[in-house]
Amino acid sequence: MPTLPKRPLIALAVLAALLAAWLGFAAWYDHHQRTEEQPATYSALIDQAGRGELSSITFSHGTGHAVGTDGSRYRVVLPVTDDLLKEMRAHKVAIAFDEGPGGLMAQTVGVLDRAAPFIVVALLIGGLLMSGGQFFGMSRATRVRPEDTKTVFADVAGVDEAKEELRETVQFLKDPRRFAMAGARVPKGILLVGPPGTGKTMLAKAAAGEADVPFFAASGSDFVEMFVGLGAARVRSLFKTARANAPCILFIDEIDALAGKRGESTSHSEREQTLNQLLVEMDGIVDIGGRGGEVVVIAATNRSEMLDAAVLRPGRFDRHIHVSLPDVAGREAILGVHAGRLTLAPDVCARTVARGTPGFSGAELANLTNEAALSAARQGRVVVTMADYDAAKDRVLMGTERRSLALTAHERRLIAVHEAGHALVSLRCPQADPIHKATIIPRGGALGMVVRLPEGDRVSVSRAKLMADIAVAMAGRAAEEIAFGADQVTTGAEADFRAATDLARRMVTAWGMSEEIGFVAHAAAEPGARSERTAWRIDEEVRRITDAGMEHARRLLRTDRTALDGIAQALLERETLSGDEIAALADVQTERATEAA
Ligand code: ADP
Ligand code: ZN
Repeated sequence: MPTLPKRPLIALAVLAALLAAWLGFAAWYDHHQRTEEQPATYSALIDQAGRGELSSITFSHGTGHAVGTDGSRYRVVLPVTDDLLKEMRAHKVAIAFDEGPGGLMAQTVGVLDRAAPFIVVALLIGGLLMSGGQFFGMSRATRVRPEDTKTVFADVAGVDEAKEELRETVQFLKDPRRFAMAGARVPKGILLVGPPGTGKTMLAKAAAGEADVPFFAASGSDFVEMFVGLGAARVRSLFKTARANAPCILFIDEIDALAGKRGESTSHSEREQTLNQLLVEMDGIVDIGGRGGEVVVIAATNRSEMLDAAVLRPGRFDRHIHVSLPDVAGREAILGVHAGRLTLAPDVCARTVARGTPGFSGAELANLTNEAALSAARQGRVVVTMADYDAAKDRVLMGTERRSLALTAHERRLIAVHEAGHALVSLRCPQADPIHKATIIPRGGALGMVVRLPEGDRVSVSRAKLMADIAVAMAGRAAEEIAFGADQVTTGAEADFRAATDLARRMVTAWGMSEEIGFVAHAAAEPGARSERTAWRIDEEVRRITDAGMEHARRLLRTDRTALDGIAQALLERETLSGDEIAALADVQTERATEAA
């Protein structure tokens, strides 16, 4: 993203510092000079001259600087009259006139005085040159020219869910009045969360392209400033520009640089002010139909957990869209988009390249494609071959340390089996939340995950559902055990156990779901209020419940072993499976198993 250089700002700061140093020095020098001279009265001076104790006097700017025969210095304010001069001459006092500039201070002022018109002109020209007055507090947002904005959703591959979510925004920007008439409030702040290079900037740009509105881009780090108030001024100016160009999309990359949690580092008032200004501006564009109401702010971050809670409140960045690393199918699509410009040899198989690049982001796949083209060009070929892709992959990999690729085939199989276990048990427990998807694409700290869809907010949860949720949590480890044996299990189930234990403990101590403990709200009681014996019994009950969940998961998976293997295999191949795909797989496998039996 091209932003204007900081150079003019730095140059101005250096100039200001030099000027200040000069003035400071001049003032000190003048003061020093003055302290050496004693102030004296006119009559005292005449008297001294009369006694012959004065050797010289210099008239300068209405002041007489006198030097006594003993070297002492005097300063006298006096009118230079003929009488005075005669008096001095009569007593053999050397007379001099110095009507040049006075002290250094006066000189400086003199220089500035004469140079002022030039300085003003220079500043004006400089300001104009800095395109559109991007000065100090002015925003450095880049308005992307229309011909560059012509990114559309079709250019962004493999992120269908994110595109789907952004479609409403596009509709709104195209026809805001339709939404206003319906009284609908469209989210004005959208947060794209995902690793670098997954196409977040591209998505925002494509949304602007689809809606055919201007696209303004800035980066959170542009607002991190040394001078208090500067960042805030810049935020204000940025939103002002956006409002003036509404409807439009304002994109803020690396929002965490600007809106990180407060009080994390030493309290920093510049950061606070900038963040507060962002909040004020976000609140200012919520009212629909009002002026500038049609600004949609899309922010991107890699780490949404770093953001200040105030930023995520309703009316601000309250719509979150996850943009994850692409799975095999996504990678194949992205490779297709970027290979569009190339002439490919018949042996190039996008699916094979996609299979060999787990963990690659869209940006890396774009890079890979370019490297493949370069490899061909280096050998004077126009046609890009599979060998070029292989060479390109090595090059790209050399530059990056890739965790998911470093996984051995065995580790990947373990993760697939673990996630398949969660998915299958969740499928077989009617009380559990339905599966949205399962994936072995790493996200955040997790190597894989099963995403379940809670069916609406529950006011209360039944004991049967809690037991099902605990069994689902245990199923990852259970699957590892069944497929690889008890001594091959991994540390991958830590978070699962934490979740299960947490539920079980609350069942026992808060929700009265253990006959053994009864209906006592131990969780709400003061710590230490319960006896050691009760504490021990609670622990035993928690353990009994989690054990029961584990037993349930094991039983389900053992009887459905073929389905477990089938889902795991499909995950290995496709990396992401939807809930429907998992259900279909499970049914087919189970049917086959029963037929065979
Ligand atoms: P982010 O903002 O998430 O860091 P960008 O949108 O800046 O990522 O992507 C950088 C480049 O990577 C894009 O210009 C494009 O060439 C390529 N790219 C990333 N994701 C995709 C994608 N889903 N489809 C096609 N190209 C992509
Ligand atoms: Zn798990």
